[in-house]
Amino acid sequence: MKQIYTELNPAQQLIYTASNIGRAYKGFDYSDIAGIYKRDQYCVLVRSDGSEEVYKASLVQDAYLKFSTRLVDYFHCLGPNYRGPSLWKDGAYVLLKGSHYAHSYGANTELAKAQRKWIDKFIYLDREPLIALLENEQFNLGHLVVPGEKPWCSCGSFQKQLKNVKELKEETFPEFQPSCIHLVWYQTFLKFREQQAALLSSLGNGRPMKCAAWWYSPMVQGGPTTNGNLQILYTDKGHLAPLDQWSLYRDPKDLRNYTQHDLWNYLFKMINAGYVSFCGATALPQIKLKSN
Ligand SMILES: [Zn+2]
Repeated sequence: MKQIYTELNPAQQLIYTASNIGRAYKGFDYSDIAGIYKRDQYCVLVRSDGSEEVYKASLVQDAYLKFSTRLVDYFHCLGPNYRGPSLWKDGAYVLLKGSHYAHSYGANTELAKAQRKWIDKFIYLDREPLIALLENEQFNLGHLVVPGEKPWCSCGSFQKQLKNVKELKEETFPEFQPSCIHLVWYQTFLKFREQQAALLSSLGNGRPMKCAAWWYSPMVQGGPTTNGNLQILYTDKGHLAPLDQWSLYRDPKDLRNYTQHDLWNYLFKMINAGYVSFCGATALPQIKLKSN
């Protein structure tokens, strides 16, 4: 008997992709895919030779939701000079693409130059021209993010979810709300800022003595790894202490070199250990670390 397939609607097309099936099922074979369909609670994949495979729709949905709201590394949404979100107006922020930190020559790219040219001028633009500039495919500077009650982002991923929100709710769960990596990054950045402010106020008016600082050198193009090098130093003598009064931080349970993927984790760990943290490159001019 011939099997009945359902063509995917636009919401299902976002979810049931080869990439998301691959995220849900380790070892998935990406080659020779003729089509992807839906049948009941299954995602049906047809190969070029006509054979079919079935995957649980719920697992592919989970993979899609997890991936579209994953926490990307700290440098992914960081502007020039380690600048975080730039307030535009009405509670909306510009998050720039972390092009300065993508690799060791990141700051010399056209994109990075354009970011430096524009970063202090966004406030002079109205909403539509601003979004057109940020999302312009040639520049692709970053995104406009509106956190808060009704979160919103100008990025393609969020806009596709927003456009298909009714079908996505039907396909996943009724409470589904559009989100994206930029909103998740912003919320995490805000949480860090709030926890750091709470730590500072708990210390009273005096200058904090327990301080930690981090430095980052991006991956070297053509080098052996796609990871950059993150170094964390700490002191009990205040952030103005000279270099010889700082110690290199090493977690005894985690002695590998730290990378861009570790910074979020360690920012929160520093606070939990009672250490006020600083971006070494911008806040501690008395200390010059050699990269690597
Ligand atoms: Zn976004």
